[in-house]
Amino acid sequence: MYRTHTCGELRIGQAGQTVTLAGWVQTVRKFGSITFVDLRDRYGITQLLLNESLNAKLDAQPLGREFVLQATGKVNERSNKNLNIPTGEIELLVSDYKILNKSAVPPFTIQDDTDGGDDIRMKYRYLDLRRNAVKRNLELRYAVNRSARNYLHENSFMDIETPFLIKSTPEGARDFVVPSRMNEGQFYALPQSPQTFKQLLMVSGYDRYYQIVKCFRDEDLRADRQPEFTQIDCEMAFVEQEDILQMFEGLIKRIFKDVKNIDYTDVVKRITWEDAMWNYGNDKPDIRFGLEIGNLKFPQHAFLSKTSSLEDAGVLTGFPVFDDAETVLAIAIPGCSEYTRKQTDEITEWVKRPQIGMKGLVYIKCNKDGTLKSSVDKFYTEDKLKAIAAAAKAQPGDLILILAGAEERTRKATSDLRMEMATRLGLRKNDEFKLLWVLDFPLFEYAEEDNRWVARHHPFTSPKPDQIDVMINNNPLIEDAAKYLEHPYSNIKANAYDMVLNGNEIGGGSIRIFQRELQEKMFAALGMTEEEANHKFGFLLGAFEYGAPPHGGLAFGFDRLCAILGGSESIRDFIAFPKNNSGRDVMLDAPSSIDDKQLVELKIKLAL
Ligand code: ASP
Repeated sequence: MYRTHTCGELRIGQAGQTVTLAGWVQTVRKFGSITFVDLRDRYGITQLLLNESLNAKLDAQPLGREFVLQATGKVNERSNKNLNIPTGEIELLVSDYKILNKSAVPPFTIQDDTDGGDDIRMKYRYLDLRRNAVKRNLELRYAVNRSARNYLHENSFMDIETPFLIKSTPEGARDFVVPSRMNEGQFYALPQSPQTFKQLLMVSGYDRYYQIVKCFRDEDLRADRQPEFTQIDCEMAFVEQEDILQMFEGLIKRIFKDVKNIDYTDVVKRITWEDAMWNYGNDKPDIRFGLEIGNLKFPQHAFLSKTSSLEDAGVLTGFPVFDDAETVLAIAIPGCSEYTRKQTDEITEWVKRPQIGMKGLVYIKCNKDGTLKSSVDKFYTEDKLKAIAAAAKAQPGDLILILAGAEERTRKATSDLRMEMATRLGLRKNDEFKLLWVLDFPLFEYAEEDNRWVARHHPFTSPKPDQIDVMINNNPLIEDAAKYLEHPYSNIKANAYDMVLNGNEIGGGSIRIFQRELQEKMFAALGMTEEEANHKFGFLLGAFEYGAPPHGGLAFGFDRLCAILGGSESIRDFIAFPKNNSGRDVMLDAPSSIDDKQLVELKIKLAL
């Protein structure tokens, strides 16, 4: 037996017992003829005391950091207690020890505050994983995993594995492909998600399915994306949207309780996609704080049925920048009317950064005495400024920030500014969690490059029941690209939903199409010929002929959920062996070239 206890286990009550520990040498401190060693394992750290009797042994073979050691001795009450760690009241008076393995000097210190940079820690990830900070993240990940499994199991969900070597599943990214040696010139795709399989399982009668499963997407890696990531993937049969929302609110609440001991008793708010875009400029709004956007001017867009009353009244007319802009959006920042010139200049610089891309910023200070002071005083009468302030929902004491320009950019910049101001005002607290369902997404998006429709979620998502006719009875062809917003398809809403947590989309799904005809119509709407649809999805269309039940589901981004619960921005911190920002595993040095012999076997010639 290598050990009787772990390094995190011994307490004062065990004083006098003879025990054996095994672990890694964290530190060695020599004081004259005695030596202290901090021995670490997954469970904690225990201080070892090696006295004179072991001096000769120590001199013959000095202990180094990260040596693997087995030590036997008596548990002893320490005179100099360290109450910061659970084992800090005792130490082990070592009677004998054995070096189980030596270690090279580690390239960085294995401590909470390590001296290792990101790259070196990724290269030696197996050492980084010994650090408490990383270990805690993996423990949290496992806790979320357990909690999800327990909840789903208690609700009759069944974990069913689906294959990794498949044919493409469209989730909007490129596929990773795997050549098949046995089928010359042919390739498997790695699943972007198990979408079609879980739907087939519904046809097979497994009416509640889940899987905590790897998904693979060959996307350009924006910050904090991984080419392989994990989903909690779920599907249910004989359900409507409401059933799904209830079931999975329950799942997240359960995870909050099990993992963070939070009783999330609030009703989970719901907002339509349109309202999210209108009020927050964004379809995954952070609702831990208000700072809603005032739409002073907004182009008549089919995707938003609302218009700005201010614009209707002509209030904005007179300031050339606003006159020329497609969109003018405002945010009233509470209690900031006394910002200095330096402070407003600083925000102006912030919005001018290339990532935000605005030309400038207009502000109105709503003084506490009811007067207004703005950077556009010479263009507007006091009455007009008051109307603008009212449209921005400003109160005395607020600072109104206004951005103007092309619709998409301005909306995005205003949404970013909203988040930035919330950060500056300390309104985005790591320990506060606010869930939100975003509902009624558009079914289609317009792809300008190809002048056609693409599925906003994926092609298996059903339209709202009352809009099925609009889909069936209209030709998908877009005759005039400039007027795509007038095409009836741009108004069709989907039976799709996203769950948003603190401004992050943590999950999303939809009620599916389950009739062959409608699915065929969908493929046609996306520009697929009948042949193409059959080639790619014949199996699913075929399955729909054999009694497919109504069904729907969703998937949670497991890595992201863990990161948010762990109070971190980065999903990498919650993955044992992540890839870097260029999709490389720097520890394995992958991807890498393969042997010529393998290429020959696969009958692949590189065109490099
Ligand atoms: N397969 C979808 C996704 O990965 C989720 C779903 O619709 O269930 O986003």
